[in-house]
Amino acid sequence: MLSYRHAFHAGNHADVLKHAVLALLLEALRSKQAPFRYLETHAGAGVYDLDSPEARRNAEHEQGIGRIRAQAGSPPALAGYLAALDAVSGPGGRARYPGSPRVARHLLRPDDRMVLCELHPADHALLRAEFAGDRQVAVHRTDGYQGLKAFLPPPERRGLVLIDPPYEVKDEYRQVVAALGAAHRRWPTGIYALWYPVLDTTTHARLLQDLVQSGLRRVLLAELRVRPEDGPRGMKGSGMVIINPPWRLDRTLEALLPWLWDVLDPEHRGGWRMEWLVPE
Ligand code: SAM
Repeated sequence: MLSYRHAFHAGNHADVLKHAVLALLLEALRSKQAPFRYLETHAGAGVYDLDSPEARRNAEHEQGIGRIRAQAGSPPALAGYLAALDAVSGPGGRARYPGSPRVARHLLRPDDRMVLCELHPADHALLRAEFAGDRQVAVHRTDGYQGLKAFLPPPERRGLVLIDPPYEVKDEYRQVVAALGAAHRRWPTGIYALWYPVLDTTTHARLLQDLVQSGLRRVLLAELRVRPEDGPRGMKGSGMVIINPPWRLDRTLEALLPWLWDVLDPEHRGGWRMEWLVPE
């Protein structure tokens, strides 16, 4: 199918949540000396020009990263994410926005590695060019679900997998749960993060229910909604499911999510939640 292009959405509220959580996960991995590996199944283009016609069409970033940037201060939990942002856009700038691969690359140490899968020919070409000559980064034009089979478990035996599908077809909601289960069987000790959209009252609820029934343990959920559930069609918010989260991530998110909600949904039409979908 491959009609989804992330350039239309870069820097929106969902990217803010996803990339803030991603940075927290990588910072936790950095707290131990041993090298780690980062694997991404649906990597996108790597970096986005917020002045491009695609990004300007709905200017989604204005209600996302634009609102974060407009704050006088920000919680320490956002420091890694905002540093990755500064590294591509320049302090206070907003012309370029880092996709998840650039956020992750900013947080790798010299012995850490990352593997990126992207299937769209144009986004794959942009991603490959973005990391050309970078010996710590491998870019593959591969189906991300095949990538989970090919690249797990990683030689480092510690690290993070981000699964960020476009959910263009309804079946993808089932596909991600099956793929996560299979990946977890191959590598049970890895950290896994799955992004999902909140579109209506049932679609994501079914995804979460399927995850509960999948038998996975230690499943944490962080969700942020910026529009009312009974509002017009479209994305109301998004969430991140984290399997094997680092110690105390739940506490960090419990403090961060209300701040993000205040900033990204100043009229408080949506809401947030952080809960253990499945405990130990
Ligand atoms: N993770 C990126 C970020 O946060 O910057 C955004 C990724 S975007 C939501 C999803 C990407 O998955 C798109 O670039 C799309 O081309 C790609 N894609 C779609 N199906 C895929 C598949 N089966 N395997 C790998 N990539 C796929």
